[in-house]
Amino acid sequence: MKLFDVYPVNDITIVKAQGSYVWDADGVQYLDMYGGHAVISIGHTHPLWVARIEEQLEKIAFYSNSVHLPIQKELAEKLGKVSGKEDYQLFLCNSGAEANENALKLASFVNGRKKIIAFNKSFHGRTSLAVATTDNPAIVAPVNQTDNVIFLPYNDEKALEACFKAQGGEISSVIIEGIQGVGGINIAAESFLQKIRSLCDEYGALYIADSVQCGYGRSGKFFSHDYAGVNADIYTMAKGMGNGFPIGGILIAPHIKPKYGMLGTTFGGNQLACAAALAVLEVLEKDNLIEQARQRGMYLLNRLKAVKGIENVRGRGLMIGFDVPEDLKDLKKNLLYKHQVFTGEAKPNVIRLLPSLAIARKQVDEFLDLLQEEINQLKAVTPSTEEV
Ligand code: PMP
Repeated sequence: MKLFDVYPVNDITIVKAQGSYVWDADGVQYLDMYGGHAVISIGHTHPLWVARIEEQLEKIAFYSNSVHLPIQKELAEKLGKVSGKEDYQLFLCNSGAEANENALKLASFVNGRKKIIAFNKSFHGRTSLAVATTDNPAIVAPVNQTDNVIFLPYNDEKALEACFKAQGGEISSVIIEGIQGVGGINIAAESFLQKIRSLCDEYGALYIADSVQCGYGRSGKFFSHDYAGVNADIYTMAKGMGNGFPIGGILIAPHIKPKYGMLGTTFGGNQLACAAALAVLEVLEKDNLIEQARQRGMYLLNRLKAVKGIENVRGRGLMIGFDVPEDLKDLKKNLLYKHQVFTGEAKPNVIRLLPSLAIARKQVDEFLDLLQEEINQLKAVTPSTEEV
């Protein structure tokens, strides 16, 4: 049987990983500035993460949610402490799409409404409601198409206000990434998030903060929405939560009281995933990685701003993007194949950097040197427009 190529992007076979490096089958080492798409939070195969999963595996890997599982309670307590959302409730699931699916559904259960506001260039996942709120018609199957989702321009307060004025009584929820990831590293203005908060309060809609990519400390704060000083009604999480072990979750504000049956999933909160997630929180806290991500991100951002040739350098913490002009269009490919550096991309011409929050300063410097070297080489062979 052949494996379906889900993302046919490159032909590199990765077999080993540690910290911010991965290795292919021939032993070639790559610097990982992509973090497996923002999944690697504390570093690949972190020793404490490995130890916690192994310890748990020897005790019990899984039992159904029909009994009390103390490790879930332990995770909820620790997550409340590290995120500062101690009064929220945690529901555990297995992925980002599942987290968003449940958040959107829960909001609809709570206020009995059907309409959802989402934003241009959003990405919320590939299950039915998650994909319906994703601004990419190519991944929405006919069965997922619905008139219940209204797409508005990101950061456009006027459009948002007009939409609420026209149909506020029907809006169940607003779902927004504090920093759009797949859409190309676009940062929500603090005033925009505050506007969402006040309109949701005024009209009885729920504010869903999709923090699957920009959450869990990546932005330099636990949730990127924290920069705006707002509390969402529901936060959704996955990716960095397990550092590579599949786990997702939603945080539910204290005023929302889910009833039995509204939320549920067989594997959500399994003991192995909880052990992995607890190890992540332990390391985030012990090594002060959220603050480190903020500072290292600022350093990387400032150094990138001084690199000639790339444009619109932007980001927060270790979620950074820049535009690649036409004369450097081979940059990402060359970084990978000539310099063994993984980076991410977003259409049409954005390079995304999403390294582990534990990336060392010298690895950031290594990346910057290789980037500059490659830009110089590409510029040397491509005459600039002034010279033509
Ligand atoms: N939300 C955001 C912001 C994402 O970036 C992603 C994944 N790229 C998802 C949701 C979906 O997560 P998953 O692939 O774990 O379902």
